[in-house]
Amino acid sequence: MAAFKTLDDLGDVTGKVALVRVDLNLPMKGGSATDVTRVEAVKPTILELSKKGAKVLLLAHFGRPGGQRSSVLSTSMVTGDVEGVLGKELMFIPEVAGPVVEQSIGILRNGDIGLLDNTRFWPGEEANDPNFAQAIAAHGDFFVNDAFSAAHRAHATTEGITHFLPSYAGRAMEAELKALDAALGNPEAPVAAVVGGAKVSTKLAVLENLVGRVQHLIIGGGMANTFLAARGVNVGKSLCEHDLTDQASKIMDTADHAGCTVHLPYDVVVSKEFAANPASLRTCNVHEVAEDEMILDIGASAAEALADVLKTCRTLVWNGPLGAFETEPFDAATMSLARHVAALTQEGSLISVAGGGDTVAALAQAGVTGDVTYISTAGGAFLEWMEGKELPGVAALTANNG
Ligand code: ADP
Ligand code: MG
Repeated sequence: MAAFKTLDDLGDVTGKVALVRVDLNLPMKGGSATDVTRVEAVKPTILELSKKGAKVLLLAHFGRPGGQRSSVLSTSMVTGDVEGVLGKELMFIPEVAGPVVEQSIGILRNGDIGLLDNTRFWPGEEANDPNFAQAIAAHGDFFVNDAFSAAHRAHATTEGITHFLPSYAGRAMEAELKALDAALGNPEAPVAAVVGGAKVSTKLAVLENLVGRVQHLIIGGGMANTFLAARGVNVGKSLCEHDLTDQASKIMDTADHAGCTVHLPYDVVVSKEFAANPASLRTCNVHEVAEDEMILDIGASAAEALADVLKTCRTLVWNGPLGAFETEPFDAATMSLARHVAALTQEGSLISVAGGGDTVAALAQAGVTGDVTYISTAGGAFLEWMEGKELPGVAALTANNG
């Protein structure tokens, strides 16, 4: 991983203006946030800069206003939630650049925190307009990016601004980059990847990238059905992308040549209807799925075999549940994997990094959120990183780290 600067590289910041990109795109209901995880994530960076005496100006997007002002998408909507988490008052500033920002900076005392309005109110944000980036940068002494989840977008406040200010990774960004590097950049071998979820089509690029990088590729979830079909298995009425079986075969061939073992389940949990604890529930060998049955989870033997593979590995990267985990008992394999991963990690034998909206929910359901090495909540950015793509916001930090 190319070098990037962190808050440790900052000199005395007393009285300096820190422009800090954060992710405050909180899920809202009835005027307040239903989940403040994203604020918790950026809290250490904000409070550290504040304690060191900087004037901290937060930059964030909120929803998709499409380059126009919208009162319901103002970042002022989350001011109360952010104050609650930080335990400090914020000054809301209804602009991102210009005289109002300058006057506000004059009012802020050292250590105070200001929240600028939704960066996406201005078309220059998503267009990555250098003039817009420069206008914002003019107010700051340095830039800190603590929003890995926005780093897959080359926007003015994730990429453009780094061309005008010395730029640093915040603490959350730093932790994410280190964890991701330990999982796939420079991992300790052997490395296993578990990829599950509904469809192959959404994760083709992920699978193509992983086969060249890991020693074990474990496929579960609905997408395993497509791989089973590619091997000639009749998957009945399971979710299956029959038009992608050639792609699946190609991935398995590439894996063979790269010395990567692809693990598919050999037993599965099936049912005639998709409902909780259905009457027609049974576990069978993959070759025994009936025409009117669908595969909704991998079987207990497959889950055990998977756990055995992980015992031989040093590193795991996991995206996607192994079954339809929202509905009992199709959560069984995912829950058992989550507990195994947590135990191996706690023993110190496995470095485990997991990400993806449903994967994070599944880990929480298993009660092991705190027991894996790192959980990425970055969504799209996490998947693009799994695809092996360079993220513009990260590349900008490593290129403009002076
Ligand atoms: P993530 O959000 O972690 O990236 P995905 O969105 O790719 O994961 O996939 C999660 C979804 O896949 C879940 O809603 C789950 O119910 C579904 N799924 C997993 N296995 C199956 C299966 N065998 N049949 C149908 N859906 C499945
Ligand atoms: Mg999902």
